[in-house]
Amino acid sequence: MKILFLDQSGKPGGAELCLIDIAKPYRDRSLVCLFADGSFKTLLQQHQIPVEVLTHQSIAVRKHSSLFQAFSSLGQLTPLIAKVVQKAMAYDVIYANTQKALVVGAIASLIARRPLVYHLHDILSSEHFSQTNLRVAINLANRCAALVIANSHASQQAFIQAGGRPELTRVIYNGFDPKLYQTCASDITKLRQHLGLEGKFVVGQFSRLSPWKGQHILIDAIAQCPEKVTVMLVGDALFGEQDYVKQLHQQITQLNLQHRVKFLGFRSDIPQLMTACNLVAHTSIAPEPFGRVIVEAMLCGKPVVAAKAGGAVELVEHGVNGFLTTPQAPQELAQIINSCLQETAKTTTLANHARDMASQRFDVTIINQQIAQLLSSKFESNYC
Ligand code: UDP
Repeated sequence: MKILFLDQSGKPGGAELCLIDIAKPYRDRSLVCLFADGSFKTLLQQHQIPVEVLTHQSIAVRKHSSLFQAFSSLGQLTPLIAKVVQKAMAYDVIYANTQKALVVGAIASLIARRPLVYHLHDILSSEHFSQTNLRVAINLANRCAALVIANSHASQQAFIQAGGRPELTRVIYNGFDPKLYQTCASDITKLRQHLGLEGKFVVGQFSRLSPWKGQHILIDAIAQCPEKVTVMLVGDALFGEQDYVKQLHQQITQLNLQHRVKFLGFRSDIPQLMTACNLVAHTSIAPEPFGRVIVEAMLCGKPVVAAKAGGAVELVEHGVNGFLTTPQAPQELAQIINSCLQETAKTTTLANHARDMASQRFDVTIINQQIAQLLSSKFESNYC
């Protein structure tokens, strides 16, 4: 089956990193088309996945755009849709990996008469999107998609609650290669030395710096923890959220925590950095669609504490393979950090159990088989 993958982003977020794993088995007969240039293109090339950037003009619609803004972007989308239609003629299926890709892919699928798959990496709710964006996404998926792959039951339920057709949906979790999360102990010791973390209890937070990812909650929490508890924030302000970064620095200064919080920016050595932590914290203040970082922490053998909402609840069982806290509750988070600091043997056992479980449950080979079976059962009879 020849697949035309579409993704709006030039930068690698969770949806894009997941797409690399999905597109890899199809790389000899597929193409990834991006709507922006950037480091995601380079990553795809490093994995020998054919990629083309279809436009260098950024699309004006944002997550909270109004109907007027959505309409005014239609003119901008027309040349992009035309390019996708032209490309789609050489492929059997269009696979939209993001919301703007859904809009372009849906219209192109009607014109090019190719079936559309929508991989849903978002919680389609008003906490994350404007009413206009929600309506557009649900209507296009309902009318044009032959299949909606939701990255968690939480994403699937939100899609259905927003009016999406349940019979279109299947849940498939993100896949991971457990081998990539095995690291060398001496490298980790050097990394901790290099980062000035010797003797510290390091709580890592790995995600773009954005209000809904809740870095401020973690900072509030460590203000209630002993002096040796240090925070490592890994990730950049991806989608123009510089104001939030300023607010974080102000909060850190007000709490006098400058010496206990490190900003590392966007990094590609996530397994090493996670292994250098004592605890990984996920602190999103709105429901997380999946939460790749939670599984990655488990695969690194590190205890993880996650905000109890959305997909995170499907990944973590409190006290069994990690910890769950009420979203936006720094006090509760501080209690978990303090108990991990004190009860190291118990926490290590829990983290080891989480690693074993995650290695099996999210093995990329099995997840890719699930996707291949689903795609072939839906489309193969037409295109073999
Ligand atoms: N990530 C990364 N470098 C960074 C910060 C994060 O490669 O500096 C990765 C992280 O390891 C994870 C992904 O970005 O695989 C984020 O995915 P997640 O599902 O946690 O959140 P999303 O970005 O999709 O909201």
